[in-house]
Amino acid sequence: MTRSSSHPHDPHALDGLATAPPPLRRVYCNRTLNLRSIKVIGYDMDYTLIHYHADEWEGRAYAHLQQRLLAQGWPVGHLEFEPDRVQRGLVIDKQLGNILKVNRFGYIKQSMHGMRMLTVEEQREIYGRTLVDLADSARYVFLNTLFEVSEGCMFAQLVELLDERKIPETLGYEALYRRVRFTLDRAHVEGELKAEILATPDRYVADDPDLPLALLDQREAGKQLVLITNSEWTYTQAMMTYAFDRFLPAGQTWRDLFAYVVVSARKPAFFSTNALMFEVVDDSGLLRLVEGDLHAGKVYFGGNADRLEKALGVDGDQILYVGDHMLADVLNSKKLQQWRTALILRELEAELEAQIAWQPAQVHIDQLMAEKEALEFRFSQLRAQRQRQRQGYGPVTADPAATTDAMNELRDEMIALDAKVSPLVAQAGQIHNRHWGLLMRTGNDKSLLARQIEHHADIYTSRVSNFLYETPFVFLRSLRGTLPHDPQ
Ligand code: IMP
Ligand code: MG
Repeated sequence: MTRSSSHPHDPHALDGLATAPPPLRRVYCNRTLNLRSIKVIGYDMDYTLIHYHADEWEGRAYAHLQQRLLAQGWPVGHLEFEPDRVQRGLVIDKQLGNILKVNRFGYIKQSMHGMRMLTVEEQREIYGRTLVDLADSARYVFLNTLFEVSEGCMFAQLVELLDERKIPETLGYEALYRRVRFTLDRAHVEGELKAEILATPDRYVADDPDLPLALLDQREAGKQLVLITNSEWTYTQAMMTYAFDRFLPAGQTWRDLFAYVVVSARKPAFFSTNALMFEVVDDSGLLRLVEGDLHAGKVYFGGNADRLEKALGVDGDQILYVGDHMLADVLNSKKLQQWRTALILRELEAELEAQIAWQPAQVHIDQLMAEKEALEFRFSQLRAQRQRQRQGYGPVTADPAATTDAMNELRDEMIALDAKVSPLVAQAGQIHNRHWGLLMRTGNDKSLLARQIEHHADIYTSRVSNFLYETPFVFLRSLRGTLPHDPQ
C-alpha cells in the first residue's frame, strides 16, 4: 500500500500507531458519538471521499456555464472566475441581487452587491433589521457545498452586468439567478464537463493515500460501509477507481470496501421519497428495476433511504452518514431518517491555519478590549454620578466639575485605545479570506454556517482520512457548552 510519509503526523510513524492528530486533522464533536455503536457508515463521494482541487473543478464548471451563457447571446466572454469572492456558507439574496454573510441569529454582517462589498451604512440602509430566514427559499439560497462557488461568482458578476444594462433581456435578479442555476445544472448533467474531469483526473483530484486505510480499518472493525452518491455510475466508477485502487492492497478494488453502492441517489430526495430503485447490471450502466430485497455487493441506482436501511437491518441511529453538502447529506439524513451525521469541511484546514497564525494578534485584541471595557465601566459610573450630582439625588459626592474632568480624561484614553484596536479588528476580519474573513465566524460571533453545522452535524472534520487518527473505536465527546454566566 502506498503511504503518505510527508505530513508531520504520519499515522504510520510509530510502528503503525498514529500520534495525536494536529488541530487541522481532528474530528470535532458537537454531539457525543460513540463510533463503536455505529454499525453502518455511509459515505458521499464528491468532496467527501474524493476531494477536488476546488479552484480547478469549479473553474471548469464556471467555464462551461460561461460558454453556455455566451451561446445564449449574453456578453460574458470577458468575465473570469474569481474563486475567493464567494465562500461556502454565504447566502444569496435573490430579491436584491446580493451575497450575504449572516450570523447565527440571522443578522446580516457583510454583504456584496455585484462584486462590490457594501459599506456598513449602505447595508444598514438596505437591510435595516431584516433577519435572514433560510426557510424563505423564494428569497434566500444557502451555499451548501463547494459545487456552488462557481454559481455564486457568476451570479454576482451578472448582477453587475444587469445593473449596467448590458444584459439584453429585462430580467430581474431573481430570474437572473434562475438562469444561472438552470444553466449550471445542465452543465453538470449533460456530460461534457464530467468528460473533461474524467480525461485528466490528476488535475482535479487531491490524492489522499491515507483514505483507503481509514476505510479498511472501519470495514475490518465490522462496520458495513455504504456509498451513496448523486453522481452517475460511469463517473462514480471511474473516479473511485482512480482515487482508491492505487492505494489498496494488491487484488482489492474500491468495490471491496462497500457493502452497498447507490449512484444517482438524488439526495436530498433520497431521504424523503419512495423513489424506485434499480440495479446497475453492467459497467455501461444498464438498469433493471428491483422489486424485492437489495443484496450486498451490488450497485443500485436511485431509490430511497428506507429501503437501504431495511437491507442493512439497522436503525437510523446506528448509521453514520458522512458528506459535504449541508442540506443534501447532513440536514435531511438527520431530520428525516435520524441518522447520525458527519460534515466534511475541507476549508477547515486553511481556516484553522489562519486562526492559529493570527492567535498572538487575537490575544492582543482581547487584552485591549478588556482594557476598553474597564474604561467604559468607569466612564459610565462617572456619568451616573454626574447625573446624580446635577439632579441632586443619591449619595453626596465630589462636585460635578471634578467628575466632568475625570470623564474627559477617560474619553481621551478610550479614543487612543480605539485607534489601536480598530485596525487590528479590521485585519481580523480579513483572515482566511480577504473579502469575507473566517467561514465559521462573524466578528466575535458564530456565523450562520457554524450554526448550521452545530445544529445538524454531530461531528465535523476536514477530510475522511482524519478517522485514521480516531480509529473505529473512538468515543467522541462533545465539549461542555459555554454559557455567558459560566464562572471564569
Ligand atoms: P455527491 O456529492 O457524491 O452526492 O455527488 C455530487 C454530484 O452532483 C456530482 O456528480 C456533481 O457533478 C453533481 N452536481 C453538483 N451540482 C449539481 C447541479 O447543480 N446539478 C446537477 N448535478 C450537480
Ligand atoms: Mg458531495
